[in-house]
Amino acid sequence: MNHTSDRRTFAIISHPDAGKTTLTEKLLYFGGAIHLAGEVKARGQNRRARSDWMKIEQQRGISVTSSVMTFEKDGLTFNLLDTPGHEDFSEDTYRTLTAVDSAVMVIDAARGIEAQTRKLFEVCRLRSVPIITFVNKVDREGRPPFELLDEIADMLQLDVCPMSWPVGMGSDFEGVYDLHANTLSQPEGPSREFMGRAIPFDGMDDPKLAATITSAGLATLKDESELAMGGYASFDVEAYRAGDLTPVYFGSALKDFGVAELIAALGQHAPGPRPQPAEPAAVTPERPDVTGFIFKVQANMDPNHRDRIAFMRLCSGTFKRGMKLTPTGHGKPIAIHSPILFFAQNRELADEAFPGDIIGIPNHGTLRVGDTMSERADVRFTGLPNFAPEILRRVALKDPTKTKQLRKALDDMAEEGVTQVFYPEIGSNLIIGVVGQLQLEVLLSRLDAEYKVDAGLEMAPYDTARWVSAEDPADLKAFMDLNRSSMAKDRDANPVYMAKTAWDVGYVSDRYPKVKFAATRER
Ligand code: GDP
Repeated sequence: MNHTSDRRTFAIISHPDAGKTTLTEKLLYFGGAIHLAGEVKARGQNRRARSDWMKIEQQRGISVTSSVMTFEKDGLTFNLLDTPGHEDFSEDTYRTLTAVDSAVMVIDAARGIEAQTRKLFEVCRLRSVPIITFVNKVDREGRPPFELLDEIADMLQLDVCPMSWPVGMGSDFEGVYDLHANTLSQPEGPSREFMGRAIPFDGMDDPKLAATITSAGLATLKDESELAMGGYASFDVEAYRAGDLTPVYFGSALKDFGVAELIAALGQHAPGPRPQPAEPAAVTPERPDVTGFIFKVQANMDPNHRDRIAFMRLCSGTFKRGMKLTPTGHGKPIAIHSPILFFAQNRELADEAFPGDIIGIPNHGTLRVGDTMSERADVRFTGLPNFAPEILRRVALKDPTKTKQLRKALDDMAEEGVTQVFYPEIGSNLIIGVVGQLQLEVLLSRLDAEYKVDAGLEMAPYDTARWVSAEDPADLKAFMDLNRSSMAKDRDANPVYMAKTAWDVGYVSDRYPKVKFAATRER
């Protein structure tokens, strides 16, 4: 049986505090995957207790690691890929977004589009990932719905289509009206939550509706929804799937408004596995043999074992346990005996998996972020970028006998795709590059806890780096020879030019028009 149309692989994008954790928890709860509220965080705490380096997570109250949660509902399998919310970990997040087929964008009704939402949205746009918008916290005082819709449309250059409408907000909140089904979800009881009973009406002129909400609430709802239905695009599933239109749901993750509608919308409208960009040609999920790519590697989840889990997104074929797949660039096929499927409360051995599914492959460092895995070794997925680091530091070892351990540690962490390591052409000090400040703290803490390496970080004479290439190898060589003191190699031995400032990059690239300076490198 072909399960391609019953997978929904998605991520939630948002700015910290918009309500991603709360919504995740509610999705898993309504999806039947967990039974008690609070379990997502509880699970997080357990995980933290197991691993030393995650202390930073605890101290800073942020989530550094991303994981996968699967739940099944109404005959569909939902794979929710959790993306770290903190902006310092954007690179990891970007890669996770290459593994989804759609996204849910959560916006705080009082704050609208915030910086991190916008950045993540831009990554989705690069790949035309379809987006469903959830305007959260309508149980609190928020900005007027029109203002929020216009902001989404203007800032993100998207058509918006309201699917529901809040009847008041904050102390005037009387529920959420579904504009298509003509039902009202009302707050009930002292906690003013939605208890699951949506009341159906014969449209807004139904006298029953007038008897259910205040006359002021009804008058505003009628006026606003009429304007909204006339003023915005109507729902068009093709425009949504092309990434040109976003359906907008108003709700409250905390009080359960709009959550069931969101799952229904994902099931009904969100695409199943989409074709993935690859060479020599894009891979469609209908392709019969197994292909996939690694979008994340998590090392040392258990400090007692030097194991790693590589997260593979399956793009085609039916994966079966024990199957042999060949990672690109390594040549030798490897047999996958203990693939892991991730459920909210447990992990299971995967006997079978289908396009859109994510499986965890335990390994000892063979698999790297960006690797293609395939049965026939005749394809390579493209578009998993490395980003130019924005912070470069020189690593100073306090005990010089630990050079080997240091290299091993930096290589391990580079392999996870979180930090990058550069080997300067001149001198023996290693340079590490990160996209955000917090990664430096993670690095030092892990060096100490996992590798027993006492090291410090010093300012490097550079601030940024670019991968260099040229059509004619002679042009590249000439450039490298003249700039040896600024040259380094990345861990795959690609030449990298280290610059003091972005302005310097502009200056040298004007002087060497035949050399290409790239801020990202596709693996
Ligand atoms: P994250 O940082 O995006 O994961 O946000 P959280 O889910 O941790 O939520 C941030 C804060 O907003 C928490 O105090 C939540 O209880 C609160 N919150 C989340 N959703 C809602 C909502 O729908 N209504 C209200 N009033 N508060 C909410």
